Amino acid sequence: MYSENPYKQSFETVVEKIEGNNVWLDQTCFYPESGGQAGDTGALNGQRVVDTQFDPEKNIVHTLESTPAFKVGDKAEGRIDWERRYRIMRIHAASHIMEHFLFEVFGPLKLTGSYLHERHDKSTYESEERLDSEKLAEVERKANDLITQNLPIETWPDEDRPYFRYWKCGEIQMPCGGTHLKNTSEIGLIKLKRETGGRGREKVVTSLANS
Ligand SMILES: [Zn+2]
Repeated sequence: MYSENPYKQSFETVVEKIEGNNVWLDQTCFYPESGGQAGDTGALNGQRVVDTQFDPEKNIVHTLESTPAFKVGDKAEGRIDWERRYRIMRIHAASHIMEHFLFEVFGPLKLTGSYLHERHDKSTYESEERLDSEKLAEVERKANDLITQNLPIETWPDEDRPYFRYWKCGEIQMPCGGTHLKNTSEIGLIKLKRETGGRGREKVVTSLANS
């Protein structure tokens, strides 16, 4: 349900399987950790969900903080931690826009890893040279210029592979299966910071400017 409607915060579901503190549901809007985006937290029938992951069969597994008080076949109400997820959605869109202008200013760099949670996105790129701070400030300026144009963001599934999705904002388009905003106006201003990623690697940290 997170792909069809990333703004969905709660849902009714049926418990399909329980193993220890792990719970599988017949439908869910909890986003499982993937593509560098952290898994959702929230509650199932009021019990805290501390993480959401894909199991080896690519089914979504919700991990509770304590032993489930319900059983297989029971109805359950799921509710994601919306404040956290919405921040993740804002930073996620910001990181795509950042990368577009990063490549425009520094030339294309090879992405070797990224991790996104409610505080920031950290993306690591191959680079023999330290990223120049003035050029990175230019990337930040260009990203904020685009964000403040209040542009619509579109996502859609691939025709042949429904789980493979695309993301588009203005001229920027890329494959992405994460949860996304409808408009850049929801992001607010962003700030960028450089960190070393070790030998031959540089990290760009994207976060929201006013928090
Ligand atoms: Zn994405």
